[in-house]
Amino acid sequence: MKELLLIPGPTPVSEDVLKALSQNAISHTDDRFVEVFIKALNKMKPLFGTRERRIFIIAGSGTLGMEMALTNILEENENLLVVSHGYFGDRFVEIGETLGLNVDVLKSKAGMHIDSSSLTDYLTKKKYKAVTFTHVDTSTGVMTNMEEMSKIIKEVSPDTLIVLDGVCATGGVPEKMDEWGIDVLFTGSQKAIAVPPGLTMLAFSARAISTRKEMKKMRTYYGDILRWIPVMENPHKYFATPAVNMIFALEKSLDDILEQGLDKYYEKHRMLASLTRTAMKKFGFKNLAAADIAAPTLSVFIYPPGIDDAGFRSLLKEKGVTVAEAIGELKGKCFRMGHMGSVTEEDILHALKHISQVIREKYI
Ligand code: PMP
Repeated sequence: MKELLLIPGPTPVSEDVLKALSQNAISHTDDRFVEVFIKALNKMKPLFGTRERRIFIIAGSGTLGMEMALTNILEENENLLVVSHGYFGDRFVEIGETLGLNVDVLKSKAGMHIDSSSLTDYLTKKKYKAVTFTHVDTSTGVMTNMEEMSKIIKEVSPDTLIVLDGVCATGGVPEKMDEWGIDVLFTGSQKAIAVPPGLTMLAFSARAISTRKEMKKMRTYYGDILRWIPVMENPHKYFATPAVNMIFALEKSLDDILEQGLDKYYEKHRMLASLTRTAMKKFGFKNLAAADIAAPTLSVFIYPPGIDDAGFRSLLKEKGVTVAEAIGELKGKCFRMGHMGSVTEEDILHALKHISQVIREKYI
């Protein structure tokens, strides 16, 4: 039986990436590894839409990226505005509060995008050192209109640093860090970049790095970008052992993506999203987010009446297709399906065939 993992991360890993991952470990200062590390750093740049930002590749999951983004630019009692489109936006609130920041939250209703005038209101009433956004919130499938949001910040509060969580977006949707003026952008290895979980990749602007340099008290040792800059400039240097094999895998996957062309890769994501939603609509499932704000990387489908979440997903799993439960307030009402990374049109057609079988066998 073909097993198909269609959760919104981790996503399936291709054979050649698995091969890169499974070679014997070599020294983290070996010239062969250093060369691959430098290539991986450079190959992240087009995905982040940057020429000039400094790139970091660090062992740890996306949550480490979130935490590093905040610990390197904010000190205790400084003001942070979190724009939240769901569960992962809310995680910034928890991290911010753990760090003793003054956190305000601008939160949308589930499946909706925040109203741009409310962002202007928040920024006018109070001065924020930083604002966080989640490019694609994996709980709701809402994609932030970053071009519009960053334009507002540049107009209303240009000194405010902009942090963007690209964990469920980078590689699957265009990100234009330089053009949009994003200060910190980070992602994880296990979603649209199609590498197993274990790496976070980040980019910091010159402005964000100077902010870090001016900070008096640092509250992370491993996550301090100033300790990592010498390594990212010259990976022969040691601070903490990099995840050698994971970086081999990352470099291979980035190479595959760039070789097929980033625009083509984005187009594949749009096509898979549209194919999935069109077919699911015929089965009676509605995508939670409206078409103009729905992410191409995953869908969050609302169950039609009569279909129970646990039963539906477990029958589908028996047929080899794994989708994810919804989280937060949507739990039990929706399920989540990833269509990103190395997933192909054939995979989606295979999943749709089995979804149709489950509906026929159990629900009609
Ligand atoms: N942000 C987003 C948008 C995510 O989807 C996730 C993980 N699903 C995270 C952050 C946290 O990443 P991780 O689970 O790799 O720590």
